[in-house]
Amino acid sequence: MQNLTDSAVVSALAPTRVAILGAGRGGTALLDLLHQISSIKIIGIADRDHRAPGLQRARDLRIPVSDRAEELIAKHDINLIMDVTGDPQMEHVIRLHRHPETDVLSGTASRVLWELVQHEARLQAELFHAEKMAGIGNFAAGIAHDINNPLQLILGLAENLAEERDLRTIHEQAKDIIEAVKRTSAICQDLTQYARKSAVNGDSQVNLNVRLDEALKIARYAASFHDITVVKRYDAGAVATGNPDELLHVFVNLITNAVHAMNRGGGTLILATDVMDGTVRVRIADTGCGMSSEVASHIFEPFFTTKGPGKGTGLGLYNVKTIVSKMLGTITVDSHEGKGTAISLDFPPPREVPP
Ligand code: ADP
Ligand code: MG
Repeated sequence: MQNLTDSAVVSALAPTRVAILGAGRGGTALLDLLHQISSIKIIGIADRDHRAPGLQRARDLRIPVSDRAEELIAKHDINLIMDVTGDPQMEHVIRLHRHPETDVLSGTASRVLWELVQHEARLQAELFHAEKMAGIGNFAAGIAHDINNPLQLILGLAENLAEERDLRTIHEQAKDIIEAVKRTSAICQDLTQYARKSAVNGDSQVNLNVRLDEALKIARYAASFHDITVVKRYDAGAVATGNPDELLHVFVNLITNAVHAMNRGGGTLILATDVMDGTVRVRIADTGCGMSSEVASHIFEPFFTTKGPGKGTGLGLYNVKTIVSKMLGTITVDSHEGKGTAISLDFPPPREVPP
């Protein structure tokens, strides 16, 4: 258990220092939300139950954890205590130990806060899904093309069959028809899997190379790969903990952006994974148009796009950032105008997930 060390008294400009009591679902959701806000500093989280999910989350975020709420409450440099234990006794414990200048959010107020946090998570999921659906419009031409080829083949074979008398030839052509049908249904399967809503709490160990390959397959429907060479450099051990559907969407977004950037004149798309000391890196690089530093400074903002109406939503990289930061990962953008762009995602090593 990490120690909760005292630090200097807060000044007016310093971040609001918050302590969270309770590391169940409410505490975990609060951690996830508050740690993204730069004007809030989480001083610690306490829960009597060693196995409470928020404690592990806090350790991953390098936030001190404790099993003694009263120790955390008694710290004098806390501006706000958020009590999401749901324990009626806790109000009494807080009253006994807190400093008079520390504010407390508990009871109904903390329940309302918990509902707002839940609401925010639902809105985020809706936005994510809406962006995916908006993108699916671009797939129509690619899918029509890919399904039409096997359909034409099936038609030709079926016409032959109607005339054919030789039993061996009939068998062979029937087999070809079955193969062609399998190919069309595989296309439909890829896309229905991609279009479905991802499970909210679906974290598992994800093989990043497999997901990159799947994303490449899907991105081929969404964008033209004409004159584009794909180079893969995979590290066999590239695994991260996250939601596989969300990761697929992240990779589809990054690959389609890279391909769009090369749509004038073609180029090379590099997909690479690397297991380094303490991190797993995914790198998606293109030799496309690149970005000015002005454009690069806005790309993670919602609705920022340089693409024409109907071509871009400006939500792709915003969602990528949300998902990567939820996985405690970081994003690095390296772009040169006229030369290309490389986007690297660094994830922490995989952690154990409860079954
Ligand atoms: P959208 O693709 O819908 O425009 P994104 O959030 O995915 O939205 O991207 C925002 C903007 O970032 C793009 O419009 C483009 O200007 C820029 N961008 C993203 N990826 C690249 C890339 N690989 N090369 C050049 N510009 C890029
Ligand atoms: Mg995009």
